[in-house]
Amino acid sequence: MIGWLAACVEPEPTAVLAWQSGAGGYVIEARELPELHDVRHMKGEVGSIEYGGYVDVDAGWTGGRELDIRIVVEDGVAVPLDPSGVVLYSFYAHLVDTVAWAELQGFEAEALVPVQIAVNPAVDVLIELTPADNLAYGTGYHTFVILPDGGERDVPLAANLGVVAHEFGHALFHALLSGGPQQPPLVDDLSLVSARWLSSLHEAFADTLGALITDDPAFIQQSIPIDSRDLNGRSPMTSALVPEAGNSPLDLYDPYPLGTVFAGVFWEFRLATDDPARTALLLRDTVERWSPTVDELDGGFFLEAAAAAAGEELPQLCSAITWRFPEADWPGPCRALDASP
Ligand SMILES: [Zn+2]
Repeated sequence: MIGWLAACVEPEPTAVLAWQSGAGGYVIEARELPELHDVRHMKGEVGSIEYGGYVDVDAGWTGGRELDIRIVVEDGVAVPLDPSGVVLYSFYAHLVDTVAWAELQGFEAEALVPVQIAVNPAVDVLIELTPADNLAYGTGYHTFVILPDGGERDVPLAANLGVVAHEFGHALFHALLSGGPQQPPLVDDLSLVSARWLSSLHEAFADTLGALITDDPAFIQQSIPIDSRDLNGRSPMTSALVPEAGNSPLDLYDPYPLGTVFAGVFWEFRLATDDPARTALLLRDTVERWSPTVDELDGGFFLEAAAAAAGEELPQLCSAITWRFPEADWPGPCRALDASP
């Protein structure tokens, strides 16, 4: 009788099937993921993934329920019977890798987990989520939101390491600026100029992390062909990109074009120094020095902080800034550098 029972119990998997980035792009393969303690119910060290519930502007995310991923175990590998299970394993593995990587770069990343992760919740119409935003971070209620991919993707967004690092970057940036992941956003009226600067610098920080962890300035293009988000693109700052106040809180603002200019400065710095770890440190020190009041939510103050944080690599940073901001006033430290013989 006991033998019959043992034969019926499926062995516990020691690995999961997930999208992994390799030299030639992404492939689906087995990987060990001991941080995911319960592969069927998606519970582990960096958080639990739950299904459904509701995202509300005021209350955040509530009401999710436990997932039950149907798997077969083949040679010790958890193989989901539904491809969306592979996407969730991939997301989890990328989140584990992102937290470990960011901690190594000097960010207090482990303090941000475990985090809530919601799959396919209902979302309040007041929250802007476009089909491209099917992976999102809920600022102030510290929740990652995974929605179904809006179109055919080579690599689903939630399975793209750079995109997962980008979303984690929003959590890190918010925690650095506001003092903790559960703090409310510094400004929430998106019609204000300061809020628009803030949202563009949010995207800049997040895209820089995504590019550094993958060492790919066009990491999003593994999933969606968006040339304008390539940090290697040469789009410079123009006066048209300077945020202007909107007429109402519901006025839309596209934070990406301006964000890409700022992320491009850091990518340029990474190329000039050939040092991704130094670049990540510069990014962290910039935000710590910036530490803005609402009045200082502005790209000029951000660049001043970057220049103050650059240390011996100031020349590389200043040339990265002039490359992207050909017509702007340089930060003070760069002006001083230019004046020296
Ligand atoms: Zn973003």
